[in-house]
Amino acid sequence: MLVLITGATAGIGKSCAEIFAAQGHHLILCGRRKERLDTIKTELEKKHKVNIHTLSFDIQKQTEVQEAIHSLPADLKNIDVLINNAGLAAGLSSIQDGKLEHWEQMIDTNIKGLLYITKHVANLMIPNKRGHIINLGSIAGKEVYANGNVYCATKHAVDALNKAMRIDLLTHQIKVTAIHPGMVETEFSIVRFDGDEERAKKVYQGMQPLRPEDIAETIYWAATRPAHVNINELTIMPSVQATATQVIRH
Ligand code: NAP
Repeated sequence: MLVLITGATAGIGKSCAEIFAAQGHHLILCGRRKERLDTIKTELEKKHKVNIHTLSFDIQKQTEVQEAIHSLPADLKNIDVLINNAGLAAGLSSIQDGKLEHWEQMIDTNIKGLLYITKHVANLMIPNKRGHIINLGSIAGKEVYANGNVYCATKHAVDALNKAMRIDLLTHQIKVTAIHPGMVETEFSIVRFDGDEERAKKVYQGMQPLRPEDIAETIYWAATRPAHVNINELTIMPSVQATATQVIRH
């Protein structure tokens, strides 16, 4: 398969790159941090003898997304799986105290960026009458929690778009899946708290969060079901987490 992964420079996206490459699949890896993309490409090509193409762009910028997808050589336009993973939470504040730039970044990345790339890649998949779009939602797209307001809203939007894509792409034989994780230890909390690693560490203190590879393995499983099977959505939590905020810590 040829798999395009957004947000492949860290966390869940990087783990997806490792797992798909280990199974011999060719990849198109996306993210803003070009050096990281280059390093991952070199390592995975050497280790697994697969072809990896990298695209460095900011998914918030419509023209950058369009140019990146249009720049793909013809043989890399037959994308089988799109993993819509790039996303972030920025800040953790009440509505009255929230920063507008945080809200805009989350909306522009998690909703608008996901839409831009989906439109372009879906149009490449349609003539092939096959394809699979896998959207990274979140438990925050199923529930809301204190001070999670806009992040939760963006992930509720992903939940709605996942269902809407499934309907619109049904006649084109394109599968659509959402994966909704609970707490996964990645760079997510460091990004959320503007690089404050101490504060980020406390999020996972005294509990066993999911590892990015737990999610990547599930994504791989969903992507490799037989042609007649579609996984509509899955919610995956650490065993010690029941809801977005109820966690057992020791
Ligand atoms: P992460 O380690 O911070 O990775 C996020 C990835 O998104 C990075 O590769 C980053 O790449 C990319 N990205 C962010 N903004 C971007 C932009 N403007 N343009 C292009 N790429 C961008 O976080 P993660 O935990 O793996 O998160 C992956 C997805 O899972 C997100 O959608 C997140 O909301 C979701 N999720 C995470 C958790 C969790 O607890 N970790 C739980 C539920 C859902 P660059 O910075 O190089 O651009």
